[in-house]
Amino acid sequence: MKLIIFGPPGSGKGTYSSKLKEMFGVEKIATGDIFREEIKKGSELGRKVEKYVKEGKLVPDEIVIEVVKERIKGLEKFILDGFPRTVNQAKELLKLTKIDAIIKLNIHEEILVEKMLGRRICSNPKCDGNYNIANIHKVVEGIEYYLPALLPKNDMICDKCGSPLIQRDDDKEEIIRQRIKIYEEQTKPVLEFFKKETKIPIVEIWVNRPVEEIVNRLIEELKKLKI
Ligand code: AMP
Repeated sequence: MKLIIFGPPGSGKGTYSSKLKEMFGVEKIATGDIFREEIKKGSELGRKVEKYVKEGKLVPDEIVIEVVKERIKGLEKFILDGFPRTVNQAKELLKLTKIDAIIKLNIHEEILVEKMLGRRICSNPKCDGNYNIANIHKVVEGIEYYLPALLPKNDMICDKCGSPLIQRDDDKEEIIRQRIKIYEEQTKPVLEFFKKETKIPIVEIWVNRPVEEIVNRLIEELKKLKI
């Protein structure tokens, strides 16, 4: 099972990839995570990509492709998150391996903004506590959203470690809209390429319900493809 997952920032790509990892044993390969890790380590690769990542610019294709090539070598099951981001990367990927399906997470921008503004994370860097104070129940262009708040038991205190909850620096409305815009600009041509030039099935999923329901829907769709 070789998959690509597309979706705007905050749509839950990380959550759904982790669920697919648990259920199908796919290896999650997220190029952004790899680069951040290498930068932290101060490795040669980290030093090469640092300025691009810090400025939010795309890392040159040759570097990204080399990284992905090494990571997918010999793997039978993987999910790519954050790659490919250019048509050239998509073409190079198809030279290296076949892809069984593309998952595209859909969510309206106004819901995404509300969801990201509501996100609260644990202030303890060692804890992965993640909550959301937004309680979304509304219809946008015929899609009914039901995304209940994920609140801690005690007001603004992490259930896991008792530290105060905070908002992420990049979860500010202006920055969120900018990140969504960049995603739309980058992703559209890549999806168009896959639609026009390949026969890879694209599974479109609306992320309008709580995670467990969406995971079940996703699994049903993937099962139908018999991959
Ligand atoms: P992400 O966590 O996916 O938003 O990626 C963080 C940063 O890593 C991006 O802003 C780029 O600088 C770099 N990056 C990640 N994936 C790619 C890619 N496929 N092509 C070029 N740059 C990338």
